[in-house]
Order: sequence, then C-alpha cells, then structure tokens
Amino acid sequence: MRTGAVMDRRMGESSEIGEQMHQFAKELYPICRSITGDGIRKTLAKIGERIPLTISEVPTGTTVFDWQVPKEWNIRDAYIKNLHGERVVDFKRSNLHVVSYSAPVHATFSLSNLRPHLHTLPDHPDWIPYRTSYYREDWGFCLSHNQLLALQDADYDVCIDSSLEAGSLTYGECYLAGQSENEVLISCHACHPSLANDNLSGLTVATTMASVLAGRDRRYSYRFLFIPGTIGAITWLARNADTARQIRHGLVLTCVGDAGGFHYKKSRRGDAEVDRAMEHVLRHSGETAEILEFSPYGYDERQYCSPGFNLPVGCLMRSTWGTFPEYHTSADNLDFIHPGQLARTLGVCLSVCDVLEENRFYVNQNPFCEPQLGKRGLYRSTGGESIDVEIHARLWVLNLSDGEHSLLDIADRSGLPFNTILDAAELLKASGLITEKA
Ligand SMILES: [Zn+2]
Repeated sequence: MRTGAVMDRRMGESSEIGEQMHQFAKELYPICRSITGDGIRKTLAKIGERIPLTISEVPTGTTVFDWQVPKEWNIRDAYIKNLHGERVVDFKRSNLHVVSYSAPVHATFSLSNLRPHLHTLPDHPDWIPYRTSYYREDWGFCLSHNQLLALQDADYDVCIDSSLEAGSLTYGECYLAGQSENEVLISCHACHPSLANDNLSGLTVATTMASVLAGRDRRYSYRFLFIPGTIGAITWLARNADTARQIRHGLVLTCVGDAGGFHYKKSRRGDAEVDRAMEHVLRHSGETAEILEFSPYGYDERQYCSPGFNLPVGCLMRSTWGTFPEYHTSADNLDFIHPGQLARTLGVCLSVCDVLEENRFYVNQNPFCEPQLGKRGLYRSTGGESIDVEIHARLWVLNLSDGEHSLLDIADRSGLPFNTILDAAELLKASGLITEKA
C-alpha cells in the first residue's frame, strides 16, 4: 500500500487519468437516465465494461421500508410541433426537454393550455432546466426561456412517447473482497440524464476508483453502489440490512468535477473515522476545502445516516448542490467538469482509502522515558522527509502509541501528514520499539 500512496499522489497530478474520466463522462452524457428504465440499464452496462458489476432488478410495487418501487419509465421520443410541422421543442436535441417520468401524451394544445406544462429559467434564458415528476403522475416540457418567448399564440401538436408501467428498478454493485468482511461503501446516484457534475462526475470517479482498488491488496472489502437517488438507496438498504452492518466507512460522491474547491459533509455521527480521514486528507491536499456538519437533506447519505442505520457515511462534493447556478440545468454540461478536477478528486478518495487501510493502534514497548534512537540508527534520515520532520514523526509515534491513539490521531495531533506518521510507525515497528495493538 505504500507504493499505492505514492501512486495516488502522482495520479492526482496525472492529466491522463483525468482525461479518461472526462471521456467516460462524455460517453455516458447523451443517455436519458431516470430512476428506472433502459437509461440506467445502459449506463450500468457501460460501467460494467470497466469494472465487475452485479445488476439487480427489483420489481415495481416491491415494498421497501415506507416506500414502494415505482413503475418503470421509458421514453422513445417527445416534441412540440408548430402548425408547420416543425419541432419547436425536440427531445432528440436534449433529453432535458422532457420532465423526467412524464406520462405519455399526444394531443393538440393551445399555447395557453400548454403553458402550465412548460418550465423555463427566466434568469438564464438560454438554459434548459431539469425537472422530474417521480412520485406524482404528470407530464411536462423544459425549454429555454428564449424558446418559450418565441412561441406564437397558436395550436401545437404535443407528443411524449413514453411508457410508465410495471417493470423494475435497476441498480449496480461492484464488490471487491478484502482480507476482512468489514466494508467501505462508495455510493453514487446514476439517475440523472444529461447532467455532468451531478452526477456523471461521481460515476466516473467511483468507476475509476473501483478499477484502481481492484488491482491492490485490500484490508477492507469495498462495495461500490450505482443506484437511482433516494429510492435506490432505500431499496438497497431494505434488501441488504445484514450487509449494511458490515459497513465501517462510507462516502457518497457527487458534484466532484467542477472548478470549485472541496466540500465534505460529515456523517450523522460527526466523528466517524471516515470523517476524520477525509478532514485530514483534505487539510494536507493543498486544495481549498470546507467541512460541513451533517444535515438530513442532500444526497443518499440521508438514507445511510437515517437513525435506524446511522452508518458512518459522509458526502464528498466540490461545489455543493443548489449553490451553483448551473445546478440542475443544461449548463451542467461536459464543459462544466474538468479532467484535472476529476483526477484530483480521485486522488483525494484514494488517499482516504490509504488512511483507512493503514490506520492502526500501536503500543510503545519502551514507555519509560524515550528510547535511545541513536544506537538503533533511528536518529538519521531515511532520505524521505527532512530529518527534523522524520525525527518529530518518530517521537510523536513513540509518545502517543499507548494503544489509545491511532496513527490518524497521532497525525492530527502532530499536524504531520498521515503518510509521514505511517513511515515513522513502520520504521519503529521494524526496530521492535512498537507493536501493533492486539
Ligand atoms: Zn441532482
């Protein structure tokens, strides 16, 4: 794992892996995803070409806690045509043009009767909003405000060629077994149509993270979930209550590709190891980062952190949802996410995994006064850090290795990066000065 840590840092700088993630986002971008249907299936199939993925189909009507798996939605075409037969709004130009989960309709409407079904953003007249009607049967179109202003007061041929019927809800799982059955959960929603930051950025980072971790030795087992937002997490938890008990650390990934600095929303517990590992990694990442307290609104951490589960799952974002104007609009496109930002997010996530994998408790075997480092050859540099930093790290590890302080505790208390503390601990362990707590 030590070489892994070095690799992660390089990977964070690597534009190549960022370009690959951006390219993958580009491949997924045109697919019309929703919380059920063929869009999410196609998306999962593309993820499954890159990492081992198990697909589950849960029938419509299945009770999942207080919810039911909804009808399956599929769409083939949709348009608003004027009297000349021209498509003035065309689903084939952007899948955002149709309110997701719109019931089928084909009829002639006057503009005034059509108007309640049209959604625009007057403040951003060129952008198309993203709207859904998941749990209330309805239909509608989203268009730019300029498109709306151009509509004549006339009759329109309105068609949504969709189906809303019994089917199933689909989700994908990538499970990487480790030495322990204890799990790290990485979860992201895969239900948004052509929107890049929310959440193709999360899908591409999670997929790449899984492919990197698949090639490593792992203490923990890792479970990556690609699920429809809210109902997907609820469905997974309802079907996997036993598995959920194995989750020791977890992250929801979303909005991780835009130009903004990081935001990490802590788990409901607030002091979970993953919260502390993420805070530590972000503090030493050289990126701007803000730590947010838990709140019961946001993404699927809401379900994982519901009181019955209270799992240690936080949420990593760059710009937070709802705070950037492009959020849930056509301006959240492929230009809004950046290869370098995706790569640096991946680097942070892998560094957090390194901390979780390597965090241990040690016990000083010479607790009465300092051991004499010089006679053990431990008072000189191994060539990594400056000698001052290395000696400080060794003294910190010796002093706090009382079986009560983990390496992460020691890193935080000393202000030194986790890897520096880990290097010191490995050296001291090899010298017999500390042993791992039983
Ligand atoms: Zn969203």
